[in-house]
Amino acid sequence: MFKEFKTFILRGNVMDLAVGVIIGGAFGKIVSSLVSDIITPVISIVTGGVDLSGLNVKIGGTDAAPVLLTYGKFIQNTIDFLIVALVIFMMVKIVNTLHKPVIAPTTTKECPRCKMSISKDATRCPHCTSDI
Ligand SMILES: [Zn+2]
Repeated sequence: MFKEFKTFILRGNVMDLAVGVIIGGAFGKIVSSLVSDIITPVISIVTGGVDLSGLNVKIGGTDAAPVLLTYGKFIQNTIDFLIVALVIFMMVKIVNTLHKPVIAPTTTKECPRCKMSISKDATRCPHCTSDI
């Protein structure tokens, strides 16, 4: 049992997963802070400070204990989700741009006789030994 557990823990992907979960949790805080502290205030200026979360419609119950359909909260959560999704999309795009592979300059050409890939500066083909 202990040996099995040790094997499980020492597998590399368990540690990778743990790191991923911890980084993901910390990254989630950054994203939600970005949305709630930076983006939402800017949007509220654009929309004139409209607070959707207060919107509701009474569908039953009494005046003292109304049964409300709080569709405003639903709309607000949907907008929050779209903002978070957009922010993550932008971040992924930025990271992908930074990871763009450097395209190596061409150092080879094709031998006109045997069609093998040879050095760009070669004067004789190493495959078919013909002069180029
Ligand atoms: Zn050749």
